[in-house]
Amino acid sequence: MTKWVYTFGDGQAEGNSGLKNLLGGKGANLAEMCNLGLPVPPGFTISTEVCTAFYENDRRYPLDLAAQVDAALRHVGTLTGRIFGDASNPLLVSVRSGARASMPGMMDTVLNLGLNDVTVEAMASLASNPRFAWDSYRRFITMYSNVVLDLDHHNFEDILEEFKDSKGFTLDTELSAEDWKQIVGAYKNCVQEKLGRPFPQDPHEQLWGAIGAVFGSWMNARAIKYRELHSIPESWGTAVNVQAMVFGNMGETSATGVAFTRNPSNGAKELYGEFLLNAQGEDVVAGIRTPQDITEAARIAAGSTKPSLEMSLPEAYAELVRIYGLLEKHYRDMQDLEFTVQQGKLWMLQTRNGKRTAKAALRIAVDLANEGLITREEAIQRIDPAALDQLLHPTIDPNATRVVLSTGLPASPGAATGAIVFTSEEAEQAVKEKRKVILVRVETSPEDIHGMHAAEGILTTRGGMTSHAAVVARGMGKPCVSGAGAIRIDMVSGTMTAGGRVLKRGDFITIDGSNGQVLLGEIAMLQPELSGEFGTLMGWADAFRRLRIRTNAETPLDARTAVKFGAEGIGLCRTEHMFFDGDRIIAMREMILADDEKGRRTALDKLLPMQRSDFVELFEIMRGLPVTIRLLDPPLHEFLPHEAREIQEVAEAMGTNAEKLRLRALELKESNPMLGFRGCRLAVAYPEIAEMQARAIFEAAIEAGRKSGAPVTPEIMVPLVMTKAELDLVKARIDAMAKMVGEEQGVELNYSVGTMIELPRAALKAGDIAKSAEFFSFGTNDLTQTTLGISRDDAGSFLGSYKARNILTEDPFVTLDQEGVGELVQLAAERGRRTRPDIKLGLCGEHGGDPASIAFCESVGLDYVSCSPFRVPIARLAAAQAALGKVTKAEG
Ligand code: PEP
Ligand code: MG
Repeated sequence: MTKWVYTFGDGQAEGNSGLKNLLGGKGANLAEMCNLGLPVPPGFTISTEVCTAFYENDRRYPLDLAAQVDAALRHVGTLTGRIFGDASNPLLVSVRSGARASMPGMMDTVLNLGLNDVTVEAMASLASNPRFAWDSYRRFITMYSNVVLDLDHHNFEDILEEFKDSKGFTLDTELSAEDWKQIVGAYKNCVQEKLGRPFPQDPHEQLWGAIGAVFGSWMNARAIKYRELHSIPESWGTAVNVQAMVFGNMGETSATGVAFTRNPSNGAKELYGEFLLNAQGEDVVAGIRTPQDITEAARIAAGSTKPSLEMSLPEAYAELVRIYGLLEKHYRDMQDLEFTVQQGKLWMLQTRNGKRTAKAALRIAVDLANEGLITREEAIQRIDPAALDQLLHPTIDPNATRVVLSTGLPASPGAATGAIVFTSEEAEQAVKEKRKVILVRVETSPEDIHGMHAAEGILTTRGGMTSHAAVVARGMGKPCVSGAGAIRIDMVSGTMTAGGRVLKRGDFITIDGSNGQVLLGEIAMLQPELSGEFGTLMGWADAFRRLRIRTNAETPLDARTAVKFGAEGIGLCRTEHMFFDGDRIIAMREMILADDEKGRRTALDKLLPMQRSDFVELFEIMRGLPVTIRLLDPPLHEFLPHEAREIQEVAEAMGTNAEKLRLRALELKESNPMLGFRGCRLAVAYPEIAEMQARAIFEAAIEAGRKSGAPVTPEIMVPLVMTKAELDLVKARIDAMAKMVGEEQGVELNYSVGTMIELPRAALKAGDIAKSAEFFSFGTNDLTQTTLGISRDDAGSFLGSYKARNILTEDPFVTLDQEGVGELVQLAAERGRRTRPDIKLGLCGEHGGDPASIAFCESVGLDYVSCSPFRVPIARLAAAQAALGKVTKAEG
């Protein structure tokens, strides 16, 4: 017989934290907390295997499930001294989802299940608190009707609001037991009216309804979208946790709350969270009442007048402090806790590794390692390299003028600017039109995930630091300001009123997720400075990695940024990118369009001083670090003049007539620009171009070496080579130029000449090419294009269909196709090394900044990867993780 159901309670559990796949995160951790002897209300977990079986069998349960659930219910009854469905001593339960990976708010929950017209009376007398019993019953009807019966919340909210209006009440707390009882009556009538059948009274029917709804919610639209965004396989399924209720709404000595064992925004070591007195879990999450702080220190810092948990329920607080320390030690990570205090006694409802910002993740990993709870290797492996992007986001320039419209909570760090939109649909549409927007909402719900994803940042007028908007934005790494209560949104007129101004949909605002400010207009941003824990962790990563990290840079700004981020050289200087601006593009076009050598040399003479001074600056910034300069590789279509005005400009510079030039441009026009007259083909046809570049490089190397005292050893790279003969031809010109410049200046030049491997033929013939090449740099952008036969320019139009159909799991221009392109890289590396054992091997395609591709480079033993400046830290960390991963595998 398959075991479908696992019980926990009273210091014992059938599961443990190792069974996440089977019990889901919540179920496994509830079991673990029980085993640790912590106060957990007894319950049971229906395994994820049931979910899988349910969907495989046309939404039918395994036959023996019902018997196992009954037995588990009896067991919970024994532990609590209550009986499910009993008229005088009823057991009430909660029913919650719990997948392997946390999917906050995506699936359904029902609380207070087991209440009906009879058990509500029993609860009233058992608790000597009829108000509590009827309040719980109305909550149950609302939740159950919404989750299981598919009746919208607003049906019930409207009834409640009307009732309060009729009595002149404003707060729920003003309602008596008798009032709630009347509301329950109205709620039940509403269900009867809307559905033509009564609200279910049989607790077993209620239970199976709720279990079915939770399993059903695995396939709701928002859960599907969340799985898609987080790469969670559908086959994992969710578990269902059925647990004896404990009540945070039993009066002023009861409460419910959520807490993080460290600050999830900045990682500070402090108990951080919120609670509400006399409330149930959904009240905290919904953000309708303003939550209170847990610690006195937090309350004082926030300037709140509402008492902290520490002051209002000191014993429960002390117990929470004891437990949080214990859980952190046990799990060796920051925990996200849910708790309820029932009449002064603390109960734990959940623990899990807490979601955090990248900033917090760094600080927590470094602190935990320094506290001896984890090793440095573990600290390195805990940081998702891609998440470092969050730290590299711009912040608002402190010198910029800020017109503060309002201030909310600093829910997720970073600053963002965009046009106001009020719905997720508008946000998604705007992104399609390449417009940047800020999503402005009263509060967000899981329905808004797609809009939040599309927006630059999120602003809400309601909700605390653990509200949906705050938690989800932090997870996404998006700036978010929540709870900006002074802002009024008018959906009908499409306006928001803030700081005495009325702003329309489409007007620009800026939000600062680090201090909660909402600012008028677009504001100047600053590039981030990296220090503290970032530097520490990067230092640790550097000690473990083998791969060197270089950068792709051609401007002084890029080179400086990359050096600041720890780049150990330039792996690719695309010389053609040095000619995009101003006068330079004209000289470049002149050179390309010249129809004889004389014309070309005239243009090259103009380009030489520009090249030389650029190289001098780069060499100086890099201070003796290796610099690979690639000879010109211009995809011609990017450089040819298109408009009449541009053609006229070049014609004037060349002293020729525009019509002649237009015809020449037409002649050069290609339908396959990425495979055309570019790369070394240019140097083969017009060697004087390579000569000019070589001269500029050598003269700059001598000048920079003299100025800085650090000798420069340039690496000259020949692009798009397919045969050794091409390389030899270009290399001969470079060597001759080295000799000439050396003689002119009376110095011996040190330099190396290598090639890019970016064509399949070059990879296959690498052994031959290595006879002439002192280094290879894999140009995986072109190698991907030419191996897959997918053009770099138009892949976007169909790659989406390939991903949707799982033909390709990733965009091969983002993450290296290891099976195909990777095999060519590996083969070329092997063949190159066979010919020249000390050949230097690097990779400079976009894949050089992608963690999965970096792991591949480590596995085939390349010497370095080269990536854009902002990805250098990501690459440093990914390289360390790759090196550590390799050690673990070898040991295991
Ligand atoms: C490449 O092809 O991978 C490369 C780095 O060169 P480019 O992107 O300039 O063609
Ligand atoms: Mg290329």
